[in-house]
Amino acid sequence: MRAVVWQGKHNVQVQEVPDPKILNPRDAIVRVTLTAICGSDLHLYNGDIPTMQPGDVVGHEFMGEVVDVGREVKNLSKGDWVVVPFAIACGGCFFCQHDLWSLCDNTNPNASIADAAYGYSSAGLFGYSHMYGGYPGGQAEYVRVPFADVGPVKIYEPLNDEQVFSILQDTYIPGVRMSNPDLRRWFGEADAWWLDNLRRKALEDPAIQDQALVLGMRAGDYAQSFGELTCELKRPLTTIFRELAGNSRTRLAIHPHNRAYNLPVQEFLRAARADLMYLNLPAGQADFGGPAGPPAWQDTWVLGRIPDVIDDFSRLATLPQSKKAYLEMVDRILLSASRIRKWAVECRDIGLASARDISDLIKTHRNIQATYSKDLTEISGGLRNYVMVSELA
Ligand SMILES: [Zn+2]
Ligand SMILES: [Zn+2]
Repeated sequence: MRAVVWQGKHNVQVQEVPDPKILNPRDAIVRVTLTAICGSDLHLYNGDIPTMQPGDVVGHEFMGEVVDVGREVKNLSKGDWVVVPFAIACGGCFFCQHDLWSLCDNTNPNASIADAAYGYSSAGLFGYSHMYGGYPGGQAEYVRVPFADVGPVKIYEPLNDEQVFSILQDTYIPGVRMSNPDLRRWFGEADAWWLDNLRRKALEDPAIQDQALVLGMRAGDYAQSFGELTCELKRPLTTIFRELAGNSRTRLAIHPHNRAYNLPVQEFLRAARADLMYLNLPAGQADFGGPAGPPAWQDTWVLGRIPDVIDDFSRLATLPQSKKAYLEMVDRILLSASRIRKWAVECRDIGLASARDISDLIKTHRNIQATYSKDLTEISGGLRNYVMVSELA
């Protein structure tokens, strides 16, 4: 097979190398269909990472099709599509048991070298020097994936033409009664029926449901992006859906572990494991679409009814507001994000609270390191956007 091979500082070449084989019962062989050149690969290219040897195959991020599996890999079979994380994890050690996959204790046979160089070792990594296990990487036609029952994430194949055809068939034909008449708040008659029918057909088939719903939401957003002046430019949603489905074939499809929790903002933040919160504060009632603002249609469509739980953000657009109530809401959000190390809060200097009010409020929680502002006067008449960055001391 062909692969990108490191030959020394500033010297990589595409060369013929031996095809990988199953060596252990928990291995799989993946035929690479997409691979990445990462910023980290520059460290190898520039000769900054010790223990590279001429002939090493690089590339640590890739996805593709499983073409062979060892006898102990029960969760994958030939023909599955997978994304392979760059850290190789055994699944059984203390770190793997705590979801700290990149710290796996069992996959780097040369951990002692990394220990000596950096004080500790990570898991074995694909295509990233012998100090990290010397595993051939993913800028290659095929890769041997060790512990393939742990790392690779299965993805669905994108919708094929036949599935797209069948889901779009008769979507424009009105039925007796719309299962979700609320759609008429956002859409014209024809599009509302289209979305209603599409949802019903998507839910009939669990194998394609996620993708069909996501594509449907994007088609609905497309419809929402037209106003009175531009509506003549709008193309049929069926055409848009078909184009989006075609595009998504070149990208990642949705896999079963992707989940949308649909939690209220504060609950979501409290449970989030993240280093950074980017909070984009709505200006207040002024520039929001009221109860029929854009994101609300998606909830209504997917659930088949107006959702009972409306988070603070959606309520913000609908309730009569005072500056006090607005700042209290922001305060509650910041409080529930107190564990998140870094905040970047974006706000606009109009509406109920000024940027000054917001910055004073943030300061009651933690110091602000920097404020960035952007003058949008030219396009929106007197608007200024601020992003305030603060970090936990
Ligand atoms: Zn990378
Ligand atoms: Zn492990």
